Amino acid sequence: MRTLDTLGELRSKTVVIRCDLNVPLKDGEITDDGRIRASLATIRELREAGARLVLISHLGRPAGVPEERYSLRPVAVRMAELLGAPVGFCAETVGAEAESARAALGDGEVLLLENLRFNPGETSKDEAERRAFAARLARGADAFVSDGFGVVHRRQASVTELAEALPSAAGRLVEAELGVLRRLTDHPDRPYTVVLGGSKVSDKLGVISHLLERVDTLLIGGGMLFTFLAAQGRAVGASLLEADQLDTVRGYLETAARRGVRIVLPSDVVVAEAFAADAAHEVVAADAIESSSFGASGIGLDIGPVSAAAFAAVIAESETVFWNGPMGVFEMPAFAAGTRTVAEALAETDGFTVVGGGDSAAAVRALGFDDAQFGHISTGGGASLEFLEGKTLPGLEVLA
Ligand code: ADP
Ligand code: MG
Repeated sequence: MRTLDTLGELRSKTVVIRCDLNVPLKDGEITDDGRIRASLATIRELREAGARLVLISHLGRPAGVPEERYSLRPVAVRMAELLGAPVGFCAETVGAEAESARAALGDGEVLLLENLRFNPGETSKDEAERRAFAARLARGADAFVSDGFGVVHRRQASVTELAEALPSAAGRLVEAELGVLRRLTDHPDRPYTVVLGGSKVSDKLGVISHLLERVDTLLIGGGMLFTFLAAQGRAVGASLLEADQLDTVRGYLETAARRGVRIVLPSDVVVAEAFAADAAHEVVAADAIESSSFGASGIGLDIGPVSAAAFAAVIAESETVFWNGPMGVFEMPAFAAGTRTVAEALAETDGFTVVGGGDSAAAVRALGFDDAQFGHISTGGGASLEFLEGKTLPGLEVLA
């Protein structure tokens, strides 16, 4: 993969950097600036090299038209604070205004353009449309740096077609993320434990089957645990259940047993009367979910304390831990304990720990953990999972 060093002398050159500045916002405030921080290494290095920087990113999922709530403007403000230097903002991605803002950049100056996804060409399924949009993004630029690790698994104009339109290279974040993921796929120190949670099994099928060939232990929490319990014949009340995945999950349990991979399911769960922050809730055995006061209408929203402690014990004995997906609905404090216990175990172990996944990263920060307590917090959930699945990522392929 081509890295920054292959781009040559960049003084006074205009360099477009695809960042992933897709931060969570609440009432216009950034609630987790992790992705902005993660983008700074490349930006600092290229500023020092005297390049003129044009930053591009998406935010949220606008449908190809401008929507004020998805504006990157607050990101420019926060980035300027973190960088300790001005970051210009242009309310347009391509067009006359964007072009004059780019042309006005001096050496070492930084400009952030408005949300890529305000333009239909960015995520178009039509390659010609993506190519046309990429050509406009490339106009007047000398080089392209791909540093949005969270999007390298996407075939989108600013990821793939733009990399083909200009001399291009991976940025430092993409380089660092890949280094960590290669360590997980090529030579993990053992015991190697993967903790999987989050909402849906179907999001993570590929990675589960791939991991079954590589890990020693798989700890299952989050919404997906109920499909595993149901695959073992348990009643799960009104918990999240993907009935169409039951056979697949049974297949995993068989493969794991055959290969000697340990799959650990929770022995207790927190069941609630409703999917609500203030819902009545109680802890029940995982094989008797419908025995709670809420009967068959109870919803499992977190792993129970006994399970969380058991997961923590496995983590403590592991040399490598990859964690993707919260153990429960951590956004509601009543159902955050399982996620907190797992995060604490990761923070305390001496092993190499990687947190992957947008919500998982947001969870550890929301629960008050510091990034430095983990070996690595990936900025790309989908991308890191696809890499661990052994897939070819289009945004990396174009940099080879
Ligand atoms: P990541 O972004 O880290 O890959 P996911 O997107 O797969 O994680 O899942 C995160 C979401 O899963 C969170 O919003 C969380 O509330 C939800 N979740 C966790 N446990 C449950 C559960 N038992 N029922 C429903 N949703 C859950
Ligand atoms: Mg997510």
